Amino acid sequence: MASTDTKKILPEEGKRNILISSALPYVNNVPHLGNIIGSVLSADVFSRFCKARGYPTLFVCGTDEYGTATETKAIEERVTPQQLCDKYYAIHSEVYQWFNIGFDHFGRTPTKQQTDIAQDIFLKLYKNGYLEERATVQPYCEQHKSFLADRFVEGECPLCQYPDARGDQCDKCGHLLDPLDLINPKCKLDGATPIPRETKHVFILLDKLQPVIEEWSKKSSVEGAWSHNGKVITESWLNEGLKPRGITRDLKWGTKVPLEGYDEKVLYVWFDACIGYVSITATYTEEWEKWWRNPEQVKLYQFMGKDNVPFHTVIFPGSQLGTGDKWTMPNHISTTEYLNYEHGKFSKSRGVGVFGTNAKETGIPSDVWRYYLLSHRPETGDSEFEWDGFIASNNNELLKNFGNFVNRVIKFVNSKIYDSVVPDYTKHTEPYFDEHKKEVNAALAQYNEELHAVKLKAALQTAMKVSSIGNKLLQDNKIDNKLATEQPDKCAAVVGLALNQIHLLASLIEPYMPATSALILEQLNMPLLIIPDLWEADSIKPNHKIGQAAHLFSVIKPEKEKEWRELFGGEEARKAKAEKEAKAAAKKAEKERKKAAKAAAKDGGAKGESVEAIEKGGKETLPGEKTAVEEVSEGVKQVVLQSS
Ligand SMILES: [Zn+2]
Ligand SMILES: [Zn+2]
Repeated sequence: MASTDTKKILPEEGKRNILISSALPYVNNVPHLGNIIGSVLSADVFSRFCKARGYPTLFVCGTDEYGTATETKAIEERVTPQQLCDKYYAIHSEVYQWFNIGFDHFGRTPTKQQTDIAQDIFLKLYKNGYLEERATVQPYCEQHKSFLADRFVEGECPLCQYPDARGDQCDKCGHLLDPLDLINPKCKLDGATPIPRETKHVFILLDKLQPVIEEWSKKSSVEGAWSHNGKVITESWLNEGLKPRGITRDLKWGTKVPLEGYDEKVLYVWFDACIGYVSITATYTEEWEKWWRNPEQVKLYQFMGKDNVPFHTVIFPGSQLGTGDKWTMPNHISTTEYLNYEHGKFSKSRGVGVFGTNAKETGIPSDVWRYYLLSHRPETGDSEFEWDGFIASNNNELLKNFGNFVNRVIKFVNSKIYDSVVPDYTKHTEPYFDEHKKEVNAALAQYNEELHAVKLKAALQTAMKVSSIGNKLLQDNKIDNKLATEQPDKCAAVVGLALNQIHLLASLIEPYMPATSALILEQLNMPLLIIPDLWEADSIKPNHKIGQAAHLFSVIKPEKEKEWRELFGGEEARKAKAEKEAKAAAKKAEKERKKAAKAAAKDGGAKGESVEAIEKGGKETLPGEKTAVEEVSEGVKQVVLQSS
């Protein structure tokens, strides 16, 4: 055991050690794009950044497999919960693999380690007086003769009157609910009205833990600069006052409750799930405590959608604190809002949206998906997935800006002038080059600052800026055969600078587009550059032989928009949006017409001209798509011209 463990990533003395978790996806949901950007992809970017900076970094995730939903679905599919989980674990793994999510370990919750660690935490909480046994009244379905888990009771929310609230939580107002408080409760399986029946459960006394949770979260949210919604949601829980909550359930598929008289009950998933981060680390390395009991040397960054916030900022830290043990606790909490699909919701049952392996089926490389999702990460509010935007970001931003810069330089070095050998770029200098380096370094400093603060979207824009600055360098100095013949030293200086900038750029985009970064490194024939604080523009030396240029991106034809929308749904939402926009445009045009008519009445001479202008203006606002197509084809033309 010990010999295989020596290769594992472990914290190092005196270094910045980073432990990263992304919310454990529930096993029997096939993830959609919103789930992917919400946690795993965001965590992956941060993990890759930390690694590209040279920090010892461990990124763990896994499927959350216990619980009612699994048990019920297994009954439906006539398999054991284990068989069901095996099937879905494989689906999740395949999806994340395709999206190039670089987990150091993607585990699962039903393990011996989970049982050991969760029971240990449970027993310590019990010993320290933070757990209490209570007789409770629970919904029981006489129809199918079983106690009902909270989420298997449905009815009207007593707080906001939302008609489709689940017994555990209201999707509309977000409050956690007691299923027996629902108005007109129904069994989800057979629609029978559940009756209250007495049973015994263990409660965690969150009210008793509130002072320590509050003290910790006040400190951590400032030190770790939690994202805004993470702070707000936590504060609202604390302000409302924490209440004792049951942490056992009448189920078989879960972690056994280590107390007498609980043979038919297991630990509830929302107590159990976050402990999964610890147990998954423990299945990765026997030395898991070096990560999890090392608050002085390890910083924990947790990524999740906003619906998961209270589990990470109240329940999990409360459980940790209540044990009295030394724990690595959440430092930074990064939470996202929701990604919508074409102005509607993702829905597997209605076949709307891109789920699981759908993205792969489009034939578009995963880096393009990653780029689009990350540049539309719902950080401060909900955001939209839209096919036209998806195509435009590939054709305009990636191909025209980024791909063009890299391809043009490498092709030029491949040409007869240099025959793929980096020229001596040290013989010529001028103030322009120093200014250029300064500009790149300013962007680099900004990028590092943004990523250290987990501002993923902003840092991606900054990385793209480094590419734009590169294009500007080429344009300002007009690198071509003429420059190479007439001013060879200057031409070599531009080429050296540009190649080194591409090397830097490969590192800056690695967290976002790892496959593209690898392609660039292959073309440069260089290893990945550790992201520096200051860029010296000398990592690629004169006389180094580079590889062959190859296109990083290819054009997506505009007609794909319609095809994909038909394939993945969203046509209705799209039509509704177009109608709304057309109405707004018509209203605006009408307003302008009236305004112009008024002006014309005042000044008779200009009448003809203003009507024409309005008509032209009105036309231009309508066919927005055509403009995008024109831009695309121009972009393509430009790329072809410049790279030949
Ligand atoms: Zn029932
Ligand atoms: Zn509600």
